[in-house]
Amino acid sequence: MKLSAFGHKFTAESGITSLMDDLGNAMASGDDVIMMGGGNPGHVPAIQSRLREVLGDLVQDDDAFQRLIGIYDPPQGEKRFIAALTELLNQEYGWALTPENVALTNGSQAAFFMLFNMFAGDDGEGGHREILLPLAPEYIGYADAGIGRELFRAVRPEITWTGDHEFKYRVDFDALDIGPETGAICVSRPTNPTGNVITDEEMRRLEVMARENDVPLIVDGAYGTPFPSLLFTEASPTWNEQIILCLSLSKLGLPAARTGIVIADKPVIKALSSINAIMNLATGSFGAMVAEPLVRSGEILSLSRDVVCPFYQRKMEKAVAVLHDQLGDRCPWAVHRPEGAMFLWLWFPDLPIGSLELYERLKSRGVLVVSGHYFFPGLPEDGWRHRHECLRVTYSQDDEQVARGLTLIADEVLRVWAGQ
Ligand code: PLP
Repeated sequence: MKLSAFGHKFTAESGITSLMDDLGNAMASGDDVIMMGGGNPGHVPAIQSRLREVLGDLVQDDDAFQRLIGIYDPPQGEKRFIAALTELLNQEYGWALTPENVALTNGSQAAFFMLFNMFAGDDGEGGHREILLPLAPEYIGYADAGIGRELFRAVRPEITWTGDHEFKYRVDFDALDIGPETGAICVSRPTNPTGNVITDEEMRRLEVMARENDVPLIVDGAYGTPFPSLLFTEASPTWNEQIILCLSLSKLGLPAARTGIVIADKPVIKALSSINAIMNLATGSFGAMVAEPLVRSGEILSLSRDVVCPFYQRKMEKAVAVLHDQLGDRCPWAVHRPEGAMFLWLWFPDLPIGSLELYERLKSRGVLVVSGHYFFPGLPEDGWRHRHECLRVTYSQDDEQVARGLTLIADEVLRVWAGQ
């Protein structure tokens, strides 16, 4: 098979594809495996029963059923959903959106692929632009999204202690330089893998930097605000023409529907729709049609706030309690302040083995997590030990399994410290 540069780049073994294979094979082995490695949302009963109701209505209605399965939407996405969403967001937040400010994509992952390559890479004039990730660690799903060479530049965080065995990353603005080579700034809020939520003040400062340098600030709200609101701290929903806000229906409970939502300045939406037409012809209607009644009634906000958020917050609190119980002061450990998303980011300072070896040891005991070293796309390998001292642990699944998994993690870490 003779491949192009594109073919080579996208078929080469990347860290994350081998990891996903590894996780998949371990799951398929049929052994009793505790899965704390993936990003699948939990199944929230109240959300599922409301979606079942909506689906029943759609199937009963001839016109809706035809639209659900029998019609290509325009490349910008399903019009009624977009109209309902702009109305809701204008009413709630006064954003002054028109439908030309919104595009739908087949999952927000596809939106990032299009946006990153739209704003960074070869500039066609012999130059090269990059996506600035102001706060490493950051979402591994960005890492391989560039069509061309190196697309990302990431900046190490400031680490602050926020409690007993608890720390928080903050943007190190002194280390953040932005220049003509910057094509866009991007942050996930809450952040996958850490559960960090950059503060309103950090957002404001990033927005000022973006504005001064005439580049967009891409905010990945896959877990964030205004929905699905896997947020356990204050974070204001923010949009203006400098910001490209990427939302998703996945973590609300519809990952299989593959619906991403991009809210941006009109020229960005127009450009994105053109790329979408070439790549996909049209965006799938399914997620938009299922979610539209919830958007029209405003339930998408109330369900996010009153059902989805507490569902994950309870799980997070239980998981943190297990860690304190099992590890106490018996070894050096800390958890990133869990402010959102569905992950605990565990840090084992000075652990005698690296996180990849710890991952392997845990896998052999039937617990699947993700080694933290994968989550530093764009950060040069600079001997920073911290990046090999962390694990990402997903707590979205069954509470008892999560507790069992965390107990095994604690036990294994203590064994490492005991030299076993
Ligand atoms: N952004 C972040 C931070 C994520 O964790 C994910 C998925 O896990 C995505 C974006 C992509 O989600 P989707 O394509 O399902 O919208």
